[in-house]
Amino acid sequence: MAGEPQADCVFCKIVSGDIPATVVRRTDRTLTFRDINPQAPTHLLVIPRVHHPNAAELAAAEPGIAAELLVEAGAAAGDDGLESYRLIFNTGADAGQTVFHAHVHVLGGEPLTEGLV
Ligand code: AMP
Ligand code: ZN
Repeated sequence: MAGEPQADCVFCKIVSGDIPATVVRRTDRTLTFRDINPQAPTHLLVIPRVHHPNAAELAAAEPGIAAELLVEAGAAAGDDGLESYRLIFNTGADAGQTVFHAHVHVLGGEPLTEGLV
């Protein structure tokens, strides 16, 4: 059920502490940690503690938490000294989503000149 922990979800396991992560920020409703396979000098993931399969479904169900992801993303970028950064929400396998627990990527620390937009 949406919002409930999912036994097969790697990010739910990070929230519960069953899988370790390099956590850099936590709030009552979110967790921010370093991506295990960084694509830039700074590559963070901000996730809600509750399970929703993607960002849009999170925003529909819990708009306050969705907004908090963005606040935390900016704060985490600032913690790493970034003035410029890119936020990415992959949604669906064809867009590259591999973990079906809502998250936003925070990328930066080098010029990000590649991209579709
Ligand atoms: P996405 O492809 O948008 O679903 O992003 C999932 C991200 O989670 C990928 O960039 C993975 O490298 C990252 N990831 C998967 N497992 C872990 C983990 N145990 N700790 C940190 N990051 C992870
Ligand atoms: Zn989950």
